[in-house]
Amino acid sequence: MSDECLSVHSLTNNLERHTFPFEDSNIPLNGIYILFQKGEQGHQQDRIVRVGTHTGENQLRSRLKQHFLNENKDRSIFRKNIGRAILNKNDDPFLKYWELDLTTRKAKEQYSSSIDFEFQKNIESEVSHFIQDNFSFCAFEAQTKNDRLDIESKLISTVSRCEQCKPSPRWLGKSSPKEKIRESGLWLVNELYKTPFNKPEIEYFSDILKGI
Ligand SMILES: [Zn+2]
Repeated sequence: MSDECLSVHSLTNNLERHTFPFEDSNIPLNGIYILFQKGEQGHQQDRIVRVGTHTGENQLRSRLKQHFLNENKDRSIFRKNIGRAILNKNDDPFLKYWELDLTTRKAKEQYSSSIDFEFQKNIESEVSHFIQDNFSFCAFEAQTKNDRLDIESKLISTVSRCEQCKPSPRWLGKSSPKEKIRESGLWLVNELYKTPFNKPEIEYFSDILKGI
């Protein structure tokens, strides 16, 4: 497992790295992104802290914007989780409001009188700054939804099962209320500890990164 995780880290650390603000044209329309975070090292390289993709056609760039830019926690589980960790670290009672999903009109009407939206806006802004200042990413092309979901799951499983790349003591995720985040060292709760890449699949993955 650790050999495969080392390979995944070496291959992805060698890809072009993007930071905010990123140039759209350098990012594929369909594919997978891998996030790295300041201060996090694994296998003597930048440690993978999140892997993600998209389902709809041509949505990779807009998915990344939902994480880095769009101040709406209910459109990005990554933003939601960063906010959860920041609030939980500060023992902030607003955490219970941050948990609410206000996507539907019904939910908005139900909770709007009890939520301090000005405060929520400040947290959204703090989340944006934290993400923009601390995360970089690489992205690679994967055309079909099946390929994207399969590769994403195997990447997540390979990294989460590895015993050699662990979060640093100061990693913000250690303040997450989500046990899966604290324990995996990843800003993820799904696809952990499933089927990892085997050796032949690492070759296949390497070919995908080369665009073969
Ligand atoms: Zn590892």
